[in-house]
Amino acid sequence: MDAAVSRTLGRFIASLNLSRQTAQELVGRFGDAASVNDLPEWVRETDDESGPTAIRSSADWEPHRYTHGWHLIGVRPALADAKNLDEIATTTESELERITGRTDIPVHFDGLHPAVAREYAEGLLRAQEAFPKDHLRSVMTVGPGSSGRVPADRFDPNWFALAGLGADHGHLMLGTHRAEPELRADMARNLAEHYSVAGDPTGTAIHEFGHFLADDPQTLHDINQVVTDHAMSDAEDAVPYAMRHISVNAGATLDELGAEAFADVMLNGTAANPLSHAIVDAIRANYERVNP
Ligand SMILES: [Zn+2]
Repeated sequence: MDAAVSRTLGRFIASLNLSRQTAQELVGRFGDAASVNDLPEWVRETDDESGPTAIRSSADWEPHRYTHGWHLIGVRPALADAKNLDEIATTTESELERITGRTDIPVHFDGLHPAVAREYAEGLLRAQEAFPKDHLRSVMTVGPGSSGRVPADRFDPNWFALAGLGADHGHLMLGTHRAEPELRADMARNLAEHYSVAGDPTGTAIHEFGHFLADDPQTLHDINQVVTDHAMSDAEDAVPYAMRHISVNAGATLDELGAEAFADVMLNGTAANPLSHAIVDAIRANYERVNP
């Protein structure tokens, strides 16, 4: 990496006060720049005094939005009563059948902590209830303790989960690489640092379901239009606007923006950012178009 690029990125990242993992992801996004001029303006203009142009300090965020996690609501009684991973999986399959009418959605939670599996299931079921026609096709685990249904090379151990897109649409993979305390700590830190609107397994599952909903060229086109219109009305570029109003990850790609906006609305309801609501309106319109 060019030394000047490295210095500029370093200043930008230091002023955001991010975790090492999040900082590495930002370096991964912009580290290929051959010179500082190839970096986005909002990274380039960072200086030590004022911080980045997009996110000056955590005071720019709306803290009330991050106090409505569903971990406060808990899981539905049928999941709470399920005693082990097999029962949690069977209960999830029954709930999916009730919601979608389908009996061909296999669910496997092997390798997860049971409490984590219940919360993933609750998030998936809430998302499925909101959009019952774009259904899951399978839920599989990958990593230590999983039954090896998913080839290990399809999954980066740093990920919490992976939503299959395109030909893999509807297939969800859940990583088992972290023990429960580490998983919860990493998810909570992502929320606290505004990397994601999701801070627990429930929110993470909803985010992943959001990827299925955004997995359509017209939907992505409309999401792009919505964020561009909102940013322009504030005389701002779309990426920093999405990062400032929703989350750092929402600025990564249009897919992540769709998934984060969906999670924001599902988790925070009327307290979600207006940009998230406008994006979910676009997602809803395309969902009705594709699933008449
Ligand atoms: Zn994502």
